[in-house]
Amino acid sequence: MNSKHQYVELNDGHFIPRLGFGTYKPQEVPNSKTIEATKIAIEAGFRHIDCAYAYQVEEEVGLAIRSKIADGTVKREDIFYTSKLWSTFHRPELVQSCLEKSLKKLNFDYVDLYLIHSPMELKPGEELFPQDEKGKIIYDSVDLCATWEAMEKCKDAGLAKSIGVSNFNRRQLEMILNKPGLKYKPVCNQVECHVYLNQRKLLDFCKSKDIVLVAYGALGTQRYKEWVDPSSPVLLDDPVLGALAKKHKRSPALIALRYQLQRGVIVLAKSLNEKRIKENIQVFDFELTAEDMKDLDGLNRNFRYVTFKLMADHPNFPLADEY
Ligand code: NAP
Repeated sequence: MNSKHQYVELNDGHFIPRLGFGTYKPQEVPNSKTIEATKIAIEAGFRHIDCAYAYQVEEEVGLAIRSKIADGTVKREDIFYTSKLWSTFHRPELVQSCLEKSLKKLNFDYVDLYLIHSPMELKPGEELFPQDEKGKIIYDSVDLCATWEAMEKCKDAGLAKSIGVSNFNRRQLEMILNKPGLKYKPVCNQVECHVYLNQRKLLDFCKSKDIVLVAYGALGTQRYKEWVDPSSPVLLDDPVLGALAKKHKRSPALIALRYQLQRGVIVLAKSLNEKRIKENIQVFDFELTAEDMKDLDGLNRNFRYVTFKLMADHPNFPLADEY
C-alpha cells in the first residue's frame, strides 16, 4: 500500500483514507478555484475528498474528479468522496432526493460516504437557511432515527457505500446506536477537532463503538466570519505547534495534522493554495514522539471555533452536552 494513501477500515468493511481534502470555502471565493484546487489535490496524492450539498461546489468538485479520471491519474474507485445530507432534507421522504441532487451535480453513480451534516433539522424548501421575517432560522421537527432509516435505504439502493453522521454528540450517537431494528451503524462522526478541542471523550466513545472520528477545522478553521468569532486565537500561531514544527523541520500545520493521525483520527485539511495542498500530503513523511503527543494533548482547552450560536435554541443543538 502506498504510504501516502493510508486507509482505515470502517465498521461496514469499506476503507477510508486517513487524510481528506476539505472543499468548504466562503461564497466570495469563485467556484473555479475549487476546480483547480481539487485537481491539484488529486495530483498531489489526496484520495479522500470531503464535500457537501450545502457547500454549493459539488458541480466543480465533480468536474475536477472526472477530469483526473479522464486523464488517467485515478479511477473512480481510487477516490473516496464524501457528501452530506443538508438539514432541510431530514424528513425521511426527502433524504434520497438530496443525495440524488448531489449525484446529479457530481455526475457520479454513488458517493463513498454520505453523512447527516448536522442533527439540527431545518424547514424544508429551497433556502439553505430558511428564515422568518425577523431573520430567525426556521427549524423543523423530525425524529433523527427516521432520518437515519432513510439513510440506510440510500445505502441499500447503492447510492452511498457507507453512511455516517456529523456534528452529533454522544447522546445523539447513542440514540441511533440503540434504535430498535438498526440495520447499519454510522461508520463515522465528523466533528470539529484540533489541538484546542481534542475531543478526547467523544473519540474514546466512538472508538468503543467502532465509529471513526473525522476531524474538521484541524488547522483552526477558515475563521469564516459568519461562523467564527474573529477574536478567537489563531491555532497555527500556537507556540507549542511552532516549537514542534521547528524540531521536526515541518510547518505548524503539518504538526496539527500529524497529531490527529497518530491518535487514530481521520483528518481533513482544506486549502486552495497549491503550495499548501502539496505540503499537507507530507503528513505521512514524519512521526511525532510520545512526548510530542503529550505536549500537544496539553494544549486542549475545549475551545470551539464553530459554535452554531444562531441555532443554540434548536431542540437538537448538539453542543449543550459536555460531549
Ligand atoms: P481547515 O482544514 O482547518 O483549514 C483552515 C485554513 O488553513 C484554510 O483556510 C487554509 O487556507 C489554511 N491552510 C491549509 N493548509 C495550510 C498549511 N499547510 N499551512 C498554513 N495554512 C494552511 O479548514 P476547514 O475548512 O474549517 O475544515 C476542513 C474541511 O472540513 C472543510 O473544508 C470541510 O470539507 C469540512 N468541514 C465540515 C464541517 C461540518 O459541519 N461537517 C464544518 C466545517 C468544515 P488556504 O486555503 O489559504 O491554504
